[in-house]
Amino acid sequence: MLNLVLFGPPGAGKGTQSDLLKKHFDLVHISTGDVFRSLDPSSDLAKLAKSYADKGNLVPDKITIEILESEVQKHSDINGVIYDGFPRTTDQATALDEFLAKKDTSVTLMLSLVVPEEELTQRLLERAKVSGRADDADPEIIQTRIENYNKSTAPVAGFYNQQGKLIEVNGVGSIDDIFNRLKEAIDAR
Ligand code: AMP
Repeated sequence: MLNLVLFGPPGAGKGTQSDLLKKHFDLVHISTGDVFRSLDPSSDLAKLAKSYADKGNLVPDKITIEILESEVQKHSDINGVIYDGFPRTTDQATALDEFLAKKDTSVTLMLSLVVPEEELTQRLLERAKVSGRADDADPEIIQTRIENYNKSTAPVAGFYNQQGKLIEVNGVGSIDDIFNRLKEAIDAR
């Protein structure tokens, strides 16, 4: 199984590249952000997740890990999974390792998209015009998301680096160029 963790700060292009990788390698794409946004808005879980997401904060690990695991369980007989926006803490990374080990598989690679901070804010403000996401439209919330990324999420790269699974990929350039860099990294594994 090909289990890819697509990593990077908000606005790095994880969603866009996941769509291309999913098609090319015939993978299931799981984005915890998309899963939270697709919950029935009247449910307690959706309201709870939104209360964190709208402020740019991370949803607590216990809830996020449960959501991720139940999403993975919906699929069987697959080539692999792209994890987009998960894991975002080292506790989530540990939980994913344990969960995959029970399924006799493991994370193949973490591909980390590297994009300068100034460009991230611009990209998110641009995306807000079409995404309608409250957390993309407000520069202060974007700043909180980037700070949370730097504090809680960036260390996850170290977690996979210790396992020899981290590959950093330049996330600046055309969508096709970035896709080709990711594809080359996966093909060379
Ligand atoms: P995203 O679509 O990946 O930008 O995620 C949007 C929001 O959903 C984040 O700002 C968090 O509030 C929440 N979220 C998504 N994935 C996670 C995760 N792995 N851990 C905690 N919160 C998450």
